[in-house]
Amino acid sequence: MLPRRDFLRQALAGTGALIAPALVLGQVSGERPPPATGCAVLNPRNRVPVSIIIDDSTCLVNLNRFAMPQFNDTFDGANRVYQRNWREWPVEIPDAFIREFSDWATEAGVKGKFSIVPFPACVGRLDRGLPGWSQQQLKDSLELVRTGMMPRWDIHPEMITHTRVIDLSTGQPYQDFSPRFMENWEWTTGRSVDEIAAYIAYALRILRDVGLPCEGITTPGGFGNRALPQLAQASGEALRDVFKAEIPHYFRHLIDQGSEPVTPRVEYAQNLSGADPRCVVSMIACTGDWTGGWDCTEPAGADKFITADGKGGRLVEVIERGEPALLLAHWTGVYWNGRKLGLEIFREVVRRLHARFDNLEWMKLSEIARYWAARELTQIAVQPNGVQFTAPYSCPGFTVKVNTPNSRPPVVTSGPAGTIQRLQAVFRPGELKSGTWHQVNDGIMASFDLPRGLTMLRWD
Ligand SMILES: [Zn+2]
Repeated sequence: MLPRRDFLRQALAGTGALIAPALVLGQVSGERPPPATGCAVLNPRNRVPVSIIIDDSTCLVNLNRFAMPQFNDTFDGANRVYQRNWREWPVEIPDAFIREFSDWATEAGVKGKFSIVPFPACVGRLDRGLPGWSQQQLKDSLELVRTGMMPRWDIHPEMITHTRVIDLSTGQPYQDFSPRFMENWEWTTGRSVDEIAAYIAYALRILRDVGLPCEGITTPGGFGNRALPQLAQASGEALRDVFKAEIPHYFRHLIDQGSEPVTPRVEYAQNLSGADPRCVVSMIACTGDWTGGWDCTEPAGADKFITADGKGGRLVEVIERGEPALLLAHWTGVYWNGRKLGLEIFREVVRRLHARFDNLEWMKLSEIARYWAARELTQIAVQPNGVQFTAPYSCPGFTVKVNTPNSRPPVVTSGPAGTIQRLQAVFRPGELKSGTWHQVNDGIMASFDLPRGLTMLRWD
């Protein structure tokens, strides 16, 4: 629903340019290890992460076909945005389309996040039944998400209904359907971390009970707009509570233009040297929805992402800066009432991306969140014969650049047993993968699986 982007613009416009963007986003970073000199953490495998974020998806129900009249009621018919021809839209986005999308993504190597709204627009709960579909159809749809999507896509709830706020004591919507009791608008304003966490946990439990584990959540529209610190902490608490997520993440923010960084923000880091380190990672999308929107509007098209010659577009800007490029879309517009306009745009965008860049790494949001948590929270100490890493989290393909005159092959030792891994040389930085190293002018790049605890990268 609208307003991620609008919120940010309004917030910036309303406060003038004097407030640092990080403050507008409500970030509290928490603990950090002392900075290291002589060793820098690079991107995973020295490549640029890319990921597609799909919002407003769920099993079978065409969420926004049912959400739009509810939004219209909330604003008492005063906003024409909510008066499109929703009655003519199909009630269902069929499993065949999930399969088509998933097959394309697998073939193209694409990964990302796919929302499953647990009680979509109050039509029915995925753990009880969807009026309008049989129990078998619901079961098949859930199975398709588990087996067809989960290998390459994180699953997020997008709160409980994406429309009305649910009274957790009854499981029913509150009577009030003004913005104060809609998930997209004001309900979070003035609420505590615990209240918001209980709400998120309710959504997560429905997904847990239908066999869809989550490491992250997505906010519907303006959820948390005026409660950003509470939202971040509540997301972490709820994901740890229901799924024991080690590195919980959430998607709330979008910056679709300009030079402000779109790198993930590792927030509320604490207890880094203890047995139970904690943080929550805010994932930031770098594009607007240019694929047909939440409401089947005319898509802005592939050129906004990347132009046909590969030289322009928002993705090119962000990838050239070396920052993770997270593309946003809404499932409604990806399907576009069966015309599949969003999917066609993605096919073209990904084709152009792969023609233009040979250094991309498609990752799930959870994989990017883990990498960024490890990148920012691992303590690094350069010593005469190597580099010592003290890691609160494990991280596959952890990749570093060490300034050193050494040109002998490095070895990695880790764990109480002192497991030794000899890294293999590669001759181009683009060939780096876990277990390899590459010599550069003033040192080496090395990529290896970083376990939790102590690890040494050294030269014998
Ligand atoms: Zn949404």
